[in-house]
Amino acid sequence: MADQDDSPVRKLQVASARAEDSGRGVAHLPRAFMTALALQEGDVIEIVGKRTTPARAVLPYAEDEGLEILRLDGLQRANAGVGSGDFVEVRKVESKPATRVVLAPASQNLRLQGSATALKRTFLNRPLCQGDTVSTVGQQRVANIPPNVAQHLRAPAYALQEIRLAVISTVPRGVVHIAEGTEIELRTDYEEPKDARRADVTYDDIGGMTATIDQLREMVELPLRYPELFQRLGVDPPKGVLLHGPPGTGKTRLARAVANESDAEFFLINGPEIMGSAYGESEKRLREVFEEATRSAPSIVFIDEVDSIAPRRDRVQGEAEKRLVAQLLTLMDGLEARANLVVIAATNRPEAIDEALRRPGRFDREIIVGVPDERGRREILGIHTRGMPLAEDVDLDELSRTTYGFVGADLAALTREAAIDAVRRIMPQLNLGDQTIPAEVLDTLSVKRSDFIEALKR
Ligand code: ADP
Repeated sequence: MADQDDSPVRKLQVASARAEDSGRGVAHLPRAFMTALALQEGDVIEIVGKRTTPARAVLPYAEDEGLEILRLDGLQRANAGVGSGDFVEVRKVESKPATRVVLAPASQNLRLQGSATALKRTFLNRPLCQGDTVSTVGQQRVANIPPNVAQHLRAPAYALQEIRLAVISTVPRGVVHIAEGTEIELRTDYEEPKDARRADVTYDDIGGMTATIDQLREMVELPLRYPELFQRLGVDPPKGVLLHGPPGTGKTRLARAVANESDAEFFLINGPEIMGSAYGESEKRLREVFEEATRSAPSIVFIDEVDSIAPRRDRVQGEAEKRLVAQLLTLMDGLEARANLVVIAATNRPEAIDEALRRPGRFDREIIVGVPDERGRREILGIHTRGMPLAEDVDLDELSRTTYGFVGADLAALTREAAIDAVRRIMPQLNLGDQTIPAEVLDTLSVKRSDFIEALKR
């Protein structure tokens, strides 16, 4: 693209931010770059990728001094439509106070009640623009918990954890920030984002898998994002990748994150579920998903528990299984190398799948997703306690030492249970008639070490 300005456009290469910066809406820039743009720390900048998103400029991490990089978290990468390694333009912008902002949950499985007033405290001064996904992290007092807490003790845990919200619209348009006078409307249900990349899950939301993410980026994300590059090199990207590891280690979450970060559509096929369909239905369903995914490419088709739809044919009796394996093979073979579609299949029992599936051109790459080690558990605990008001006595290092053998799903459940206990503790102070929890009560809410210990016993 030709540049209007006479001055050479300076670009920065995107790199990922540290976990503790995730969700804060700040971007770390090189010092020299800040000087060149006359930026002070805290000034608002606009990051221009496929989309444009604002952030507050901050100084680089010590180890980045002298590097021409821009550190962004997963949400910001999604908001700017870029991935790590891409080059983006950065400019200084004026952010206007918003008169009105409409927010909605950023994922389908999240329904929100509660007042928008509490959100204002969370997002005060945060620059944003329509189409962005923002996180409530960094602020401890989040949306309100519905009054009938007793009956719904599962739901309110959300109010203690990070919540992602999509910015549906703003008045005025452009870069705005939430100010005291901003009217915030909080919609209850998810809305399909317009011109925005889905950011319900990014690489930042997966703990203990740095090496695995790198492998998947190379195998899946790069070919999906830069198909021309692979064509020019004459390299055919993989059509199928097999993830193997125990349940609850984050395979589904990982596949979703790769899809989001690659700006690809995500299609989920649940093995056992599709097997249960009526005669002929399973194959039809499989074909339909592949057709739809081909039409919407770039796409990722994720097949969970693939061993149930593609068991070794020499070991199965049923005709239904044999037909389904054959159908899957046909579909894989029918995929053009340039279809810009990758099938990721997950299994806990790699030895139980039909060997034909692993031939070249099918699932010819394998990645092991193991049970996390202590460091991995620490990262996962950090992710699931983001946005939680943790009491001072909570020691996540200690907790990661004492949770040997826990997988991501277990750790997520543990933090949820601990949060629910914290809510139980404040319940006596609540009026069941209240529509929202009074701010004074909300301010006393914190999750303690003892909540985690109790939760561990269950
Ligand atoms: P799998 O597909 O391997 O069975 P999932 O991706 O469905 O596992 O994980 C279930 C839940 O457990 C996730 O939604 C997430 O809350 C949590 N989880 C699992 N692994 C991780 C991880 N590595 N990092 C963060 N959360 C995780």
